Amino acid sequence: MALIVQKYGGTSVGSPDRIRNVAKRIAKFRAQGHQVVVVVSAMSGETNRLIALAREIQASPDPRELDVMVSTGEQVTIALLAMALKEIGIKAKSYTGSQVRVLTDSAFTKARIVSIDEEKMRADLDSGHVVVVAGFQGVDMDGNITTLGRGGSDTTGVALAAALKADECQIYTDVDGVYTTDPRIVPKARRLKSITFEEMLEMASLGSKVLQIRSVEFAGKYKVKLRVLSSFEEEGEGTLITFEEEGKMEQPIISGIAFNRDEAKITVRGVPDKPGIAYQILGPVADANIEVDMIIQNVGAEGATDFSFTVHKNDFDKAMGILRGGQSHLEAREVLGDDRIAKVSVVGVGMRSHVGVASQMFRTLAEEGINIQMISTSEIKISVVIDEKYLELAVRVLHKAFQLDQEV
Ligand code: ASP
Ligand code: MG
Repeated sequence: MALIVQKYGGTSVGSPDRIRNVAKRIAKFRAQGHQVVVVVSAMSGETNRLIALAREIQASPDPRELDVMVSTGEQVTIALLAMALKEIGIKAKSYTGSQVRVLTDSAFTKARIVSIDEEKMRADLDSGHVVVVAGFQGVDMDGNITTLGRGGSDTTGVALAAALKADECQIYTDVDGVYTTDPRIVPKARRLKSITFEEMLEMASLGSKVLQIRSVEFAGKYKVKLRVLSSFEEEGEGTLITFEEEGKMEQPIISGIAFNRDEAKITVRGVPDKPGIAYQILGPVADANIEVDMIIQNVGAEGATDFSFTVHKNDFDKAMGILRGGQSHLEAREVLGDDRIAKVSVVGVGMRSHVGVASQMFRTLAEEGINIQMISTSEIKISVVIDEKYLELAVRVLHKAFQLDQEV
């Protein structure tokens, strides 16, 4: 008998029929003698609908009230799933985040989990119940409803698994695992049987949307055994997120190609090349709570240098405003912006023990005439910024060049 936490995403509970299917899958695990805690998202589209509704009243909705509202999406699905389970003779109980007491801080719309009270869940499990918990939500010290940020149900799932010391946390979604890249762009993309935790973290932070990045961080911190699976397939082992690099020897050096269309580039040209200039440029950006991703500074010439960095597209106008406002103070020649860029990254722990990955990446892009605007690297990834219009081509040629098209 194992204790399993299963998380079902919005499409998996997108209609009464699908909810019934989820109930059947849970019943199968119960029949095998396992204890099951289930975390669900809101029905697909529901969270977006609620946010749009709020925006009809307030252009930027009050965060506390927004959380009161959007948390209702998950409250609907937990009740429906518990009903569906009871309909087929499975004992079940649903709980909102505040009922289980997923205690969070008070950062509305992006709260962080402080602790989880597993007592009640344990008692229910021991009396043969399936425990159904609303994802994405919690409660702060003062009893206010909070939410964990978009895609936050993944984090709820992993956090519950950590609190309960579950044997496995299964994330059910509409794809059957983690792929070498997005199959919509490269039809030959393959499902990975396993991926290391570090690689998954890079993939998630670089734009792969399979798992919310915070859930991966959480899993790493608490060593939760995590598996991504499809809720639309009967069988299938999905992708296991592993902590070792075992079995990696047989595999390609690169595990996946990630990409991101959500960034924009800002270049400050002709600033004095002197100590403190990076701080003078980025300080006000950070003060405005704008996250900066890639940064490059050119070698200075004649006492001046150019400085480029990327921000999320949502922050682009704000960041441009800040820099244009500070242009004369910075003594910058000009401030340029480009929101038609894309970031492409190759990720793989194999990079640690192989040389030449960067040069192969650059050669492959050069052969297609794709200009690289920025480069950044870590121990297990190389990212480049290119013109957005070459994104799909770049992903395809890199996927092929790193032999990800082939079955292993
Ligand atoms: N329903 C929330 C969202 O759409 C949380 C989730 O699905 O994970 O972001
Ligand atoms: Mg999701």
